[in-house]
Amino acid sequence: MLRTVSGFIISFVILFLLTSFHPGGEPDQNPRSPKIRTLIIDPGHGGLFPGTRGLISTEKDVTLDISLKLGEAVRKNFPAVKVVFTRTTDACVNNATNLHDDLHGRAQIANQAKGDLFISIHCNATRQPAGGYYEKRVIGHKKKLVYVGRGRKKRKRWVNAPVYESYWVKNTRVGTETYIWKAGKQENKNDAINEREEGGEDVTDSAAGEAFDLTSPEARMRAALYEKKYFDNSALFATLVEQSFSAAGRQSYGVKQRDVGIQVLQATGMPSVLIEVGFLSNKEEEEYLNSDKGQDEVVQNIIDALKRYKDQLEGNTDTIEAAAADSSK
Ligand SMILES: [Zn+2]
Repeated sequence: MLRTVSGFIISFVILFLLTSFHPGGEPDQNPRSPKIRTLIIDPGHGGLFPGTRGLISTEKDVTLDISLKLGEAVRKNFPAVKVVFTRTTDACVNNATNLHDDLHGRAQIANQAKGDLFISIHCNATRQPAGGYYEKRVIGHKKKLVYVGRGRKKRKRWVNAPVYESYWVKNTRVGTETYIWKAGKQENKNDAINEREEGGEDVTDSAAGEAFDLTSPEARMRAALYEKKYFDNSALFATLVEQSFSAAGRQSYGVKQRDVGIQVLQATGMPSVLIEVGFLSNKEEEEYLNSDKGQDEVVQNIIDALKRYKDQLEGNTDTIEAAAADSSK
């Protein structure tokens, strides 16, 4: 009984919040069809933080090249969409001197610009050295004379010693994967959502008691509702990106969820994805990601996904749910 009553109250509050709150502060005739007005492009790493290194390149440079080309392509394909970069040079965001400030700066730029979608571009690597590495294997044994014991007790002894051979192991792993922020750990994302709705002011860092109470039940519930919506849209876009890579013949590891190491996604109050466009630790894939052909293809794959994402969001909302549900399989 208690459950029924509280269930009713919660439904009522959710209904009230859904009908009374408009994203971006503007009244929207149909709150279920948000549009992509501002796209945030985040070239991973930069400045003090080079990211992974391949044989001929460094992640921070490759991500910047691809991001700048992506920005150009968005302007060409979707002239109405405003593009905001978190960085356009090889520097830390806001000249940060530590990683926390750098990542926080990225989220702050995204939130202040009131982005509708956040795309972070990164390159992958395996733990093994770029290109390849030598490993040893036993190819047989041979008798070897060794001394055992010390001083007067020292004796000669024949032992069976392994014979090793070095061999080259090519770093073969290639492919793409797109990360979304793992739902469940809601604290930071909720704060970012409220931060964004308060006009981009960094209310969490400002003096206590100012402007808006982030801990109020209304703020929490509003954030939770948007969290769910952002999660679905992040999953949808990530799925479309990976489908696009796969259709272009790339190896795709699909959409992955993570809650550590992607703080920048956690701190943005909007649908956010982190695209690992390929492995710099593989010689051929690194060359591909450094070539105009490869960069143009990666950009085109993301543009194709963006087209489908925009179509689905701005058109039939049923397909959003279908695709999002598909991505969770
Ligand atoms: Zn990276």
